[in-house]
Amino acid sequence: MTDLTGRVALVTGASRGIGAALAHMLHAAGAGVGLISRSGDDLGLDGALGVACDVRDATAVDAATAAVVERFGRLDILVVNAGVGTYGPFLDFPADDLEEIIDVNVKGALYAVRAALPHLLRSDAADVVMVASEAGRRGFPGEAVYCASKFAQVGFMRALDGELREKGVRCTNLCPGGVATDFAMGRGRKPGDTDGMMTAEEVADLAMYVMTRPRGMRILECALRPMIEASWG
Ligand code: NAP
Repeated sequence: MTDLTGRVALVTGASRGIGAALAHMLHAAGAGVGLISRSGDDLGLDGALGVACDVRDATAVDAATAAVVERFGRLDILVVNAGVGTYGPFLDFPADDLEEIIDVNVKGALYAVRAALPHLLRSDAADVVMVASEAGRRGFPGEAVYCASKFAQVGFMRALDGELREKGVRCTNLCPGGVATDFAMGRGRKPGDTDGMMTAEEVADLAMYVMTRPRGMRILECALRPMIEASWG
């Protein structure tokens, strides 16, 4: 059983899906858990802190991060997971969705890391895990804006690793293929489309593995896909 007693984790997009699954696992492992989402759901986890925060708002992200550090006294793990997506050809792509995807997935991710970093640097065992996507490793037709946002996340983390390794902060990109959650539901995905995809728990389990490796090593990137998806498409 993984023991994270004494560690504190902040998860963005923790109200459902992958973030919620991970929040449950971190909590079960004994970590203090701060949960950020627009709804501010604490998932009923005893002692966890749910904070209502839209990650598009930099000031709100700073305040939410400060609230988590204030509650638990430290921060060791940041999981940047809040994300949105819409599927459809770029030619007809809804303008509002373009703004939202870039603002949440790119700016929201950068805001979260920027707010957390001063605290992570004080930890003796810090991890930043970016829940990016296979769409951050290859281009998929019908996912141009989403791919742009996920390539940005992946590139950001690769650069951060170069800046933070010597300071003891490990930076990992998690790049899942299809996961059966609410993601993009009604925005290009419909019920049934997610049959056979990975579960949120399977992805969360890998994130737990990444952040519990011996401190002398780090995992830069994980590509994971359900068996129903080919590796080339
Ligand atoms: P999900 O079930 O739709 O959950 C998304 C989470 O993000 C929710 O907790 C949502 O909470 C939060 N969120 C959305 N907009 C937000 C905002 N503006 N501010 C704060 N929180 C916000 O999706 P998921 O599948 O778990 O996705 C999690 C991550 O995995 C995303 O980054 C996604 O791109 C990535 N991913 C998903 C898949 C997949 O197939 N599902 C595959 C690869 C990668 P509120 O609505 O309460 O704010």
